[in-house]
Amino acid sequence: MGWFEKLRAAFARFMSGRYGVDQLSYTMVIVALVMTVVAMIFGWGWLTLMSDALLVLAFFRMLSKNRYKRAQENADYLQATQKARVAASQWVNRVKNGKKYRYFTCPKCKNRLRVPRGVGNVTITCKNCGTKFDKKA
Ligand SMILES: [Zn+2]
Repeated sequence: MGWFEKLRAAFARFMSGRYGVDQLSYTMVIVALVMTVVAMIFGWGWLTLMSDALLVLAFFRMLSKNRYKRAQENADYLQATQKARVAASQWVNRVKNGKKYRYFTCPKCKNRLRVPRGVGNVTITCKNCGTKFDKKA
């Protein structure tokens, strides 16, 4: 076995039974990196301290052997951020498809609807509640 395989085996042994990376730890690492960059730009020492603390916490979670508790934290995190994550992915889709579609919000149920651009005046029927309204697309 070469030293690299030995190192890998040692790491696998070290990680066995530990929780590993999940969405919450991943987010914590990204946020910590962003905080580090902002702290460097503005010279804010306190923010560097906070980002370091966040990184330590993220690694503590990854190396934790209390898998049940960590999974619960991650589930809570996913639940708490679900609306924001859906809104963010919808926003990304809108930006991506902005040239092909126009987006409207149903006046009754606030459902988001899209219409191909350039079709002129259309009556839009909401797929969610059946409300009809006129728009120019
Ligand atoms: Zn509707």
